[in-house]
Amino acid sequence: MPVPSGTAYVVKSPPENGLCTPQLADELRKILERFAADSGFNGRNPLALFFRPGIFGHHKVGRAVDIYAVGGTGMDTWKKHWDKAMENRPQPMEGQTSAAIRAQERSRNLGWRLYKALQSYGHWAQPYGYPIQLFGPWTRSEGPWRFISDRLLYAHRDHIHVAK
Ligand SMILES: [Zn+2]
Repeated sequence: MPVPSGTAYVVKSPPENGLCTPQLADELRKILERFAADSGFNGRNPLALFFRPGIFGHHKVGRAVDIYAVGGTGMDTWKKHWDKAMENRPQPMEGQTSAAIRAQERSRNLGWRLYKALQSYGHWAQPYGYPIQLFGPWTRSEGPWRFISDRLLYAHRDHIHVAK
C-alpha cells in the first residue's frame, strides 16, 4: 500500500512511489504526523513530502521507502544548507554565536529535523549482523550507523532510506 497522507502532512509524489507493507506505512504515518505537527504544520498548511521508488534490498519486498524531499525542498539541498551553516560557525571554540547558529539551523532545517524524528521515534529493522535500516545524508554525523562507508553515504546523499 502507498504511504498515506495525514492531517498535518501531504504526500505529493504519485502513490506508486511510496509503496510498502502496511506495517511500514502505519509506522511512517504516525511519525510523519507527529513530526509535521511538531514543526508547526496543520490541515490548512500541511507539510509536503515526496517519495521515489527504490530498487535494492528491502525495497524488493516493500519493506523500505526513500524520502527525497520535505517542505518542497530536496534532501540534498537541505544537507547543503546544513553544511553551509555549520561551516560558517566560528571555530574552534563553541561560543555563544556558534551555538546560536547551530540552534537556528536545527530549528529551520526540515531535512535534518525529519531525519532526527525518524531516528528518535521509529522502530526500524535491523537484520542480524547489519546496521539499523535508517540511512541518509546525516548518517555519519548523527548516526545511528556512524561507520557508514563513503560509498553508502554517497548513495544516500539525496534521500532518507527507512525500512521495517
Ligand atoms: Zn532506499
